[in-house]
Amino acid sequence: MERLKGIPASRGICVGPIFQFVRQKLVIDETAVEDPDAEINRLEKAIEKAKDQIERIYEKALGEASKADAEIFHAHKMILEDPELLASTKKKITDQKASAEFAMMQTAQEFADIMAAMSDEYFSARATDIMDVGSRVARILLGIAETPSANLEVQSVIAADDLTPSDTVLLDKSLVLGFCTARGSATSHTAILARGLGIPAVAGAGEELLNVEDGTKLIVDGTKGEVIVDPVPALEEEYLQRKKAAETIQAKAMEHANEPAVSKDGVQVEMVANIGNVEGAKSAIDNGAEGVGLLRTEFLYLERNSLPTEDEQYEAYRAILDVFGKMPVILRTLDVGGDKEIPYMGLEQEDNSFLGQRALRLCLVRPDIFKPQLRAALRAGVDRNLKIMFPMVATASEVRAAGQVLEECRQELKKEGVPHAVDIEIGIMVEIPSAALVADQLAKEVDFFSIGTNDLSQYTMAADRTNPKVSDLSDAFFPAVLRLVRDVIIAAHTEGKWVGMCGELSGEPLAAPILLGLGLDEFSMSPPMVPVIKQIIRNLSAGEMKGLAEEALELETPDEIKELVKEKVPFITDLIA
Ligand code: PEP
Ligand code: MG
Repeated sequence: MERLKGIPASRGICVGPIFQFVRQKLVIDETAVEDPDAEINRLEKAIEKAKDQIERIYEKALGEASKADAEIFHAHKMILEDPELLASTKKKITDQKASAEFAMMQTAQEFADIMAAMSDEYFSARATDIMDVGSRVARILLGIAETPSANLEVQSVIAADDLTPSDTVLLDKSLVLGFCTARGSATSHTAILARGLGIPAVAGAGEELLNVEDGTKLIVDGTKGEVIVDPVPALEEEYLQRKKAAETIQAKAMEHANEPAVSKDGVQVEMVANIGNVEGAKSAIDNGAEGVGLLRTEFLYLERNSLPTEDEQYEAYRAILDVFGKMPVILRTLDVGGDKEIPYMGLEQEDNSFLGQRALRLCLVRPDIFKPQLRAALRAGVDRNLKIMFPMVATASEVRAAGQVLEECRQELKKEGVPHAVDIEIGIMVEIPSAALVADQLAKEVDFFSIGTNDLSQYTMAADRTNPKVSDLSDAFFPAVLRLVRDVIIAAHTEGKWVGMCGELSGEPLAAPILLGLGLDEFSMSPPMVPVIKQIIRNLSAGEMKGLAEEALELETPDEIKELVKEKVPFITDLIA
């Protein structure tokens, strides 16, 4: 038995065999073939099969991800239909007696090199696509499974270095018990996907994870951030009991998922969800969310080779807004940099990327990125309850600058006669300590705040949120963070503005009594947590929780604070299996 410490990425427990998600290396034989015609025949068949595979992924991506994500696969199909690429591959087979797989990979490499050398960013980015497609055909010719997940046959815990969005599109989710990744963070793609699906996940469990033999039993405790390899039977039994208890709690909470969260003394809080695509939107509705407190727009930009166009973004945002009708949807403008890298944007490597030119800082110097997103959002917001929120605000002047760009976009659309939303609420994320400290000034500039405790904890505690070695410090239950939360709420209320929270803390059962006591107006969390937090709020009195919050903020450690909550709100222990 071995315990691997990682970062809690998605709540819950699972027990099952590990499935190592690793790509098999392509080993291509260079010996000459005897019958070039037969080889061309093999090539043509493999290309047809590759097109079928791509079409299937495209359809699947359309159903699960956004249309923009799916378009990557359309582009892949077009590459396979390129006459020059085909002619060059066949020529290598006839002239050099090369095998079909060797000819395909050589040609793909030559074409990719030409593309990569072009100064136009769009074309240079196509190089990766060509290599992707070439390897797909070669894999078919070599009889290697389409993706590692094609070998997934029994319900398993997926272990990987980290997973890309296209990896996850292909995974049969009914066979996924949980995720654990060697690298990655609580905000990596895998983590966010897992939370949306309500599947337990641990990130950053370390390289050792990748040495665990396929099929070995694993316990994943996504709430604590721990992976137990080959557990002793008694421990396995204990975890299975906890898992069962958690399922009972979830099922009971689901019975009242669609009822509002009104405290015993009549205070109603808004219960909304954090989502990143249409799939999340549907899950939000199923779990009784009353709208969206954080629409992460990063996914539209990841795993592709060029910026999504304004029209693509419009389609994606509109599809999500349509799921919610008149319910509020807060769209957060692009938040990249830090642990979210996007190669085609040509961003310079920074020594401390979390402290660098990320999110709004980047958008303000890159109108080519910022404006199409704002225009698309404004267009998608027509007749919907759209709100726009800027991430990583440190100063009031940044808010004014962002507002100016938004106004420019509005004027442009007006001039062009393009329908767009007017009179929408504009807010900011409070996730940098400087913003929390001058919240009174910032409150004058905006309609609302949403507190991002994931970043607020890392910056307040000076503890990288992706580093498992300091994950104990990057904890929003520290009084230093909670006191900032208190001050932000007071500052906003003094200006008559409302405050939400979209950091992970708002979906923490043990935090709910404190946040209610501090007067938080809106709670936004991963969809599966909505029913449970609603149930907790319904059983609390906001007035009484005010005293609890004051007491909690005088303590020193997260553990002391959690113990206090358990002592004062005993029923809560039954809700956190
Ligand atoms: C946060 O920082 O709390 C937040 C919600 O944003 P993200 O996790 O996407 O950085
Ligand atoms: Mg953040």
